[in-house]
Amino acid sequence: MIAARADKLGAVFAERAPQHDLEGSFPFENFDDLKESGYLKLTVPAAFGGEEASVYEMVLAQERLARGDGSTALAVGWHIGQILQLRLSGAWPEPLFERLCRDVVAEGTVINELASEPATGSPSRGGRPETTARRVSGGWRITGRKTFSTLSPILKQFVVTAGIEHSEKVGAFLVRSGPGVKVEETWNTMGMRATGSHDVILEDVFVPDTEVIRGPDYEKPEFPVPTEGILLHIPACYMGIAYAARNFAIDFARHHQPNSLTVPIAELPNVQRQIAHIEADLLTARSYLYQTADRWDKEAENRAALKPELGLAKYVVTNAAVRIVDQAMRIVGGLSLSRKLPLERMYRDVRAGLHNPPMDDVVLTNLAKRALSEAEEKGNQEP
Ligand SMILES: Cc1cc2nc3c(=O)[nH]c(=O)nc-3n(C[C@H](O)[C@H](O)[C@H](O)COP(=O)(O)OP(=O)(O)OC[C@H]3O[C@@H](n4cnc5c(N)ncnc54)[C@H](O)[C@@H]3O)c2cc1C
Repeated sequence: MIAARADKLGAVFAERAPQHDLEGSFPFENFDDLKESGYLKLTVPAAFGGEEASVYEMVLAQERLARGDGSTALAVGWHIGQILQLRLSGAWPEPLFERLCRDVVAEGTVINELASEPATGSPSRGGRPETTARRVSGGWRITGRKTFSTLSPILKQFVVTAGIEHSEKVGAFLVRSGPGVKVEETWNTMGMRATGSHDVILEDVFVPDTEVIRGPDYEKPEFPVPTEGILLHIPACYMGIAYAARNFAIDFARHHQPNSLTVPIAELPNVQRQIAHIEADLLTARSYLYQTADRWDKEAENRAALKPELGLAKYVVTNAAVRIVDQAMRIVGGLSLSRKLPLERMYRDVRAGLHNPPMDDVVLTNLAKRALSEAEEKGNQEP
C-alpha cells in the first residue's frame, strides 16, 4: 500500500516537475495531494492517528516518490524524517509532540529543522549558530537568518537552532510563523529548484518556555536514543532519481533507431555495456540501502553501532546515483541535454545529494576510525 501510493503520487508529480523546475516555484499542489493521500502522516505514531512507518517503509516510499520528482521527495523527506526522529527520541515534551502529530493528521501541517546558516556552513560540522536566543519573561526572543530552509513556503512551524545568549550552549526552539518571521526568496540553484529552500529571517521572535526544545539546562544524555536511521530518507531520494534516469535511458535505447542502424541502439554492445554499468551501480547501491534500513529496523539493540553503515549507505547511494544519471545521459546522447526530456533535470537534482549530511569525508573518516579501533582492540587482546 505504501509503495503503490508513492508510485501513484510520483507519476502525477512527474508531470508537474518540469514547470516547477523551470520557474523555481514551490509545488503547493503536490503537498495538497500528499496531504489528501495520507502521505504526510506516514511516520506519525498510530496512537496519534498516523501510519507509524518504519525506516524501511519510509525508504520504500521516498525512493518511489523521487522517481517522479526529486524536489518534492527531498522536501517531504525532511518532514517525515523529522517526525520519525521525534517518535524515536521522545525529544519533545509529549503534549507538544502530540499536538504536532494531530495537526499533521488533521491539517497537513509540515515540519522541518532549520539549522544551516551562512557562517556555520553545514550544521553537521558543529559550528555555533549566529542566530541568538535572548531570555525574556516567559520565554525567549530569537533573532537570526537561516539558509537552505527547505519547505519554507508552507512551514507554519519549524525548529531553529540558536546560540543562547551569555552561554556556550546551543539551544533549539519551536518557532511558529507570525510576527517577526519572514521568508526571503533566495533559493535559485541549479538543482532541487522546487524545494523552496529559501532564507528564513527571524526578528525578535517570541518563543514561550513551553516550546523550548533544548534550553540552557539541557544536557546531552550519555547514551542518547539512536535516531540516525531517519537520515536514510536522503539516499532514498537520490536513489529514486537515479532509478528514474535508468528507466528512461533503457526505454529510450529500446526504441531509438537512427536510420544508420537496422536495430534499436539497445542491441548494440557498447550501449549494453553502458546499461550494465548502470545496473552494477544500481543493484549494489539499492541493495545496501534497503539492507541497512532493514537492519536498522530489526536490530534495535545494535542501532548505535550501525552509524558507520548508515553513513556508508548515504555515501554509496549518492555517489552511485550521480554516476547512474551521468551514464543514462551518455546512452541517450545529445538529446539528453534537451529540456524537453527529464534527464538534464535529474542530472542537476542528483548532485545536491553530495551536499546533504553526512558529508563524504565524515563517512569515510568514521569507517577508517572504526577499522583502526577494532584492529587496536584485537591487537591488545593478543597474548
Ligand atoms: C537541497 C538542499 C536542501 C537542504 N535543506 C536543508 C534544511 O532543510 N535544513 C537545513 O538546516 N539545512 C539544509 N540544507 C543544508 C545542508 O545541510 C548544508 O548545510 C549545506 O548544503 C552546506 O553544506 P556544505 O558542506 O556545502 O557547507 P560547508 O560546511 O560550508 O562546507 C563547504 C566545503 O568545506 C568542506 N568543509 C567544511 N567544514 C569542514 C570540516 N570541518 N572538515 C572537512 N571539510 C570541511 C566541505 O566538505 C565542503 O567541501 C540543504 C542543502 C541542500 C543542498
